[in-house]
Amino acid sequence: MAWIRPRAGERKPVDLKTDQPHTARMYDYFLGGKDNFPADREAGQRAMAGAPDIARAIRANRAFLVRAARYLAAEAGIRQFLDIGTGIPTSPNLHEVAQAITPDARVVYVDNDPLVLAHARALLTSTPAGRTAYLDADLRDIDAILAAPELRDTLDLSQPVALSVLAILHFLPDTETGEPFTLVRRLLDALPAGSCLVVSHGTPDFAPAISEQGAAAYRAGGIAVQLRRRDEFARFFDGLELVDPGIVPVHRWRPDTAPAGAAGATVVPGRTTTVAGT
Ligand code: SAH
Repeated sequence: MAWIRPRAGERKPVDLKTDQPHTARMYDYFLGGKDNFPADREAGQRAMAGAPDIARAIRANRAFLVRAARYLAAEAGIRQFLDIGTGIPTSPNLHEVAQAITPDARVVYVDNDPLVLAHARALLTSTPAGRTAYLDADLRDIDAILAAPELRDTLDLSQPVALSVLAILHFLPDTETGEPFTLVRRLLDALPAGSCLVVSHGTPDFAPAISEQGAAAYRAGGIAVQLRRRDEFARFFDGLELVDPGIVPVHRWRPDTAPAGAAGATVVPGRTTTVAGT
């Protein structure tokens, strides 16, 4: 067992549950990071046995994050970012990319994993002109996210915000109340015209059997996974205007060089959105 400092207002220490795999730590393992435990590595190895390309796909997703942030800061003129499901800090983090272009960019990071919270200090390295904040919250609790002082004190919700939800929505299966689509929609509804949405998501479209084997390794570790086909994924962008080249594999979204990874972008009446599919 490993313990970290408790959430604000909580008396008990937080149990990191190192005997169970966690998505943030498996992701860190695939990226070659050090913030993972034997249970994460074992589940990661099972996922790689079923889906050998998973580490490459995750690196491509991270490279997409960098290109999407550059596009948003440099071309879409976005100065405020809300990143949900941030993950264990991995350089370059979103604020480092955005603030290299727009030093006064403001970024709010949100994750519900206690280990991400423990490393959040690495996300709070804002430029003096900008600002970053970390919020320990769950994507399924939109009210808590929108009411949080970390968000309210950092972002001006009367000005455009880029909402990024990368490699997390496939951990939220469809529910009768329409989650996770309703969750993303509720966040967008709190943002003004000119805001953007960036999403990446696991899909079975390219190699159904292999992708399902990777997903099965997560499920065997107690982690819910729902891969979504392109038509299902596209629902996140209903009513939004897609930025060229639209919904594509992450390595194909505005690649720096030869086609490699991907994403797309949309805007709903008066609202811009960037999208990606892994
Ligand atoms: N967005 C980053 C990391 C993706 S890993 C990237 O694309 O590089 C997925 C992250 O989502 C993990 O850090 C995990 O802790 C977080 N996560 C999973 N379910 C969540 C939830 N319900 N609420 C908030 N964060 C969640």
